Amino acid sequence: MNAQQAVRVTLSTALQQAVRRLAHHENPDMEAELLLAHVLELPRSKLRLWPNQALTPAQLARTNDLVTRRASGEPSAYLTGIRGFWSLELQVTPDVLIPRPETELLIELALQKIPADAVWRIADLGAGSGAIALALAQERPRCQIIATDISPAALHVARANAARLNIHNVEFRLGNWFDALQGERFNMIVSNPPYVASGDPHLHDLRYEPQLALVAGSDGLRHLRAIAAQARTHFTQGGWLLLEHGYDQAPAMMELLAAPGYQYIQDYPDLSGIPRVAVARWSSYE
Ligand code: GLN
Repeated sequence: MNAQQAVRVTLSTALQQAVRRLAHHENPDMEAELLLAHVLELPRSKLRLWPNQALTPAQLARTNDLVTRRASGEPSAYLTGIRGFWSLELQVTPDVLIPRPETELLIELALQKIPADAVWRIADLGAGSGAIALALAQERPRCQIIATDISPAALHVARANAARLNIHNVEFRLGNWFDALQGERFNMIVSNPPYVASGDPHLHDLRYEPQLALVAGSDGLRHLRAIAAQARTHFTQGGWLLLEHGYDQAPAMMELLAAPGYQYIQDYPDLSGIPRVAVARWSSYE
């Protein structure tokens, strides 16, 4: 047996090995397929068609590296650089939060409010990868979305996603919350800001993601509070506010929105039944 034969690993063997090493994950088969499909540049659905194909030494090394990193907890979206959100395939890097399925609830609720032919101005605060802004922009092509983020690195990712997806009705601006939107008004303001409390043990599971996009003071409400307060001078008459928040923050959100005078306040549960998105309307014009 020569050296080359000694390292011959077929696709089916590589898959089996990866599944074994990822056994502690919720769905090892899916995880293994995702990484191998990425390395082999094949759609996942095609992976099982050539079980006896041998991996090249480079493919084998890359697979081992990715499986090791995934096994120790690195999110697969960072390993493959891609995450699906709504109907979009987004590029993600460790500079941005990985878009979550629960944020699709915010998109659904926003689309219920925005008429199909509306020519609205919409602000997305803390755009990250651009997930929210790009999904809304694609669904409502006549609307103009202005998306801001405090992180230049995140804006770089978001702009690249817009370009790759050929979405032109989003403008990305650098700045904290409304800093880059002085004097501007919107029919709708949406945000998935950082909302995890600084002492939350859950942060350990999120250690690969940017803390800047996650942590929000000792009660997790710092940014939600700031946005709700500052938004008041940025609405057109009857503008909508939609805010994603943490699993236990619905009662606090009610208060935080009612006190300054928001109306029609409602909270909606995500697919796990957890209240996740607060919706409110600003009826007066300040
Ligand atoms: N949804 C994230 C989590 O708890 C937090 C996102 C955020 O802070 N906006 O896993």
